[in-house]
Amino acid sequence: MNFKTLTGQDALRRSLTRLVAADRLSHAVLLTGPAGSGKQSWGRALARAVLCREPAGGDACLKCISCRQFGSGNHPDYFFVEPDGRNIKIDQVRSLRPAFHLLGGKKVCLIRQAEAMTAEASSSLLKVLEEPPEGLYFILLAEQAQLLFETILSRCQHYHLQPLSRTEIQGLLMEAKSLSSEKAAMLARLSRGMPGRAYELAEDEQFDSRFEEAETLALSLLSGPDSAYHLLSKAAELAEREDLLPFLDLLCFSLRDCLVMHYCSNDRLLIDPGRPALRQGETAAEGLENIIGLINNTVHELTATNVNRRLLLEKMLILMQRRFAACRK
Ligand SMILES: [Zn+2]
Repeated sequence: MNFKTLTGQDALRRSLTRLVAADRLSHAVLLTGPAGSGKQSWGRALARAVLCREPAGGDACLKCISCRQFGSGNHPDYFFVEPDGRNIKIDQVRSLRPAFHLLGGKKVCLIRQAEAMTAEASSSLLKVLEEPPEGLYFILLAEQAQLLFETILSRCQHYHLQPLSRTEIQGLLMEAKSLSSEKAAMLARLSRGMPGRAYELAEDEQFDSRFEEAETLALSLLSGPDSAYHLLSKAAELAEREDLLPFLDLLCFSLRDCLVMHYCSNDRLLIDPGRPALRQGETAAEGLENIIGLINNTVHELTATNVNRRLLLEKMLILMQRRFAACRK
């Protein structure tokens, strides 16, 4: 993999290839972006380009001895650091320092989840960054730049990865995972522009059955009042799910589809023929928007707080039902 074979991020590609070609890359480059945005792929492509013996236009040639060593995972001048447990500890940085100071050629150290460095590890890295040996480059990957030492940040060339477009992700999935155009389009929507997330979904064997269950629940919630007993047992079932968060994501997705259908056609929201549909007009659309907001709030509370899942889900389903009822009046 080199810059050329990666998808999207045109500005980043232009900037990095120009700097590598002109041999003007900073000794420390920071790549930030949410989980799954492709930081590691871009960081590795940059490391490979820096180490390449015959780079063409600032990109790795993929053919020279260095590129081949890199591809097989044992390049002697490439160092990879990632959290050992929760943190990157000082010993992990300290143990590499003698190698950094060996003379000759270029060396690259890629640090994944750089914000997980302890204060001691950060200080140790800072010492190297203050007077970097000739030919040594650091590539730091992080989700949140603000968690890094200000003194480290100020020494980095900082780039933020942009979300890919749905079309770009759809193309990636069709090519790399041989998915149908429809399935790839759907996963592209769910991935929110994060290629790593899209790959995860494509590899998830439970995806199809989870999606079917989410659609069934969306339809049953949309199509009519349920008894309190049923709602409470649904909440209990949901609370037991290990995949609750991806499930709620799919529930939102199914409901959002209904919303799109509503905006795109003047037809009534025909959710399930034979059952009462939501009435036409702004109320139904607003109601669905509110309900999606409600699920998002629930997801937020589930991830940010230590709440009782079952009680929270009972509340969510009861409020959802009330809002649907208000739409039908
Ligand atoms: Zn090469």
